[in-house]
Amino acid sequence: MTDLSQKLRSLGYEVACSPGGGENCLAAVIHEKADPELELAASLIADHKVIVLCENKNFDFRIKAARLGVSALVQLPVDLIELEGWFSDFDRNQQVESKVLIVDDDDIVAEAYAFALQERGLRTETLSNPLRTGQVVDDFCPDLIVMDLDMPEANGLDVAKALRLSRPNLSLPILFLSAERNEEIQHEARQIGGDDFITKPVDLATLTDKICIRVSRAMELRKIMERDSLTGLLNHVNFKERLASEVGRSRRTGAPMAVCLLDLDHFKAVNDTFGHQVGDRVIQMFANCLTGSLRSVDVIARYGGEEFGLILLDATPEQGARVLDGIRRSFSNFLFDTDEGPQTVTFSGGVCGLDDAATVEGLLGAADAALYEAKRQGRNRIVLHSQAENP
Ligand code: GH3
Ligand code: MG
Ligand code: MG
Repeated sequence: MTDLSQKLRSLGYEVACSPGGGENCLAAVIHEKADPELELAASLIADHKVIVLCENKNFDFRIKAARLGVSALVQLPVDLIELEGWFSDFDRNQQVESKVLIVDDDDIVAEAYAFALQERGLRTETLSNPLRTGQVVDDFCPDLIVMDLDMPEANGLDVAKALRLSRPNLSLPILFLSAERNEEIQHEARQIGGDDFITKPVDLATLTDKICIRVSRAMELRKIMERDSLTGLLNHVNFKERLASEVGRSRRTGAPMAVCLLDLDHFKAVNDTFGHQVGDRVIQMFANCLTGSLRSVDVIARYGGEEFGLILLDATPEQGARVLDGIRRSFSNFLFDTDEGPQTVTFSGGVCGLDDAATVEGLLGAADAALYEAKRQGRNRIVLHSQAENP
């Protein structure tokens, strides 16, 4: 366990080695030898996600663990990537609050739906004027829209069609509600990507059930579409979209922001010497290290092969560079197991801020120039664009 604690610490996790640990910790990790009857696990389950590290267990043991409410069984010897996969799932569950926009000209009905959905842990926004849907979708960024079909200002089908004219809304799920049983209208609703058609009156419990199922499926799908499959991080295209919207927001509010590009050093040699599989694991570990070390508001993306993009919100480039330098130091000490013994890998980074360029492309160029400078100066370092010698 000491070895495991050390590895987790070098990935940026805080590790407490006492039963009970911190109140707000991500998970309690228990070695089965310390708790063969799962008594400790049972005592922690009320306040913690519990992971039990164990030898290959029979199904009886799994059933017992599941009944107690254990969140995960991880086989020994521990695969760190598997363990971190659970951590990031737990982390995501804590952060993610699904958002539903309800568009219905009848305020009372909309509020009733909203209240029932809030009870189920969803965030809601209601809108009685469908003509404002575009604006509210941009600001609230819902994961699903519940849309009444029959509204005086505009018909729900037209509103949906208008939304679909913007690329980011092409896959936004829409659930139509209508008193209309007309097959033709229902068919048209499905054609423009209405995910479901619910005929009013509908009882609240059935409606909220349907919405909850749709939202969680929509979020899973979006995760697959937006995220890189090896690391689970945002992909290149979505990183650029996020950057554009964060730049806009920061310019409006005046809040600082740091844009960073990171690149693993001599990575071709890592692949050539230890194999592509080891290379893949290094990329996964690096992604986990970033996720574990940065705040949940920060945006982390796989920008390209062994290159990563970050948006650190409410941070000046100087503050961003300092944070990255801490991550750089701990990552460079991490020992990767390879056939040729433990190995270290380093990365370089370039950082810029809103003052360094006027456009999104300009910012990426500035961060890239600083990264290039970090490589030129010998790698394993973070360079600020404003301080680069040859930016
Ligand atoms: P530098 O320090 O200048 O960045 O050198 P480098 O070797 O890291 O840079 P180079 O661009 O020459 O090579 C990048 C390597 O990263 C080559 C490519 O095969 C490897 N790579 C890119 N994506 C992946 C991936 O998904 N998995 C693995 N294993 N390797 C990858
Ligand atoms: Mg590289
Ligand atoms: Mg590269």
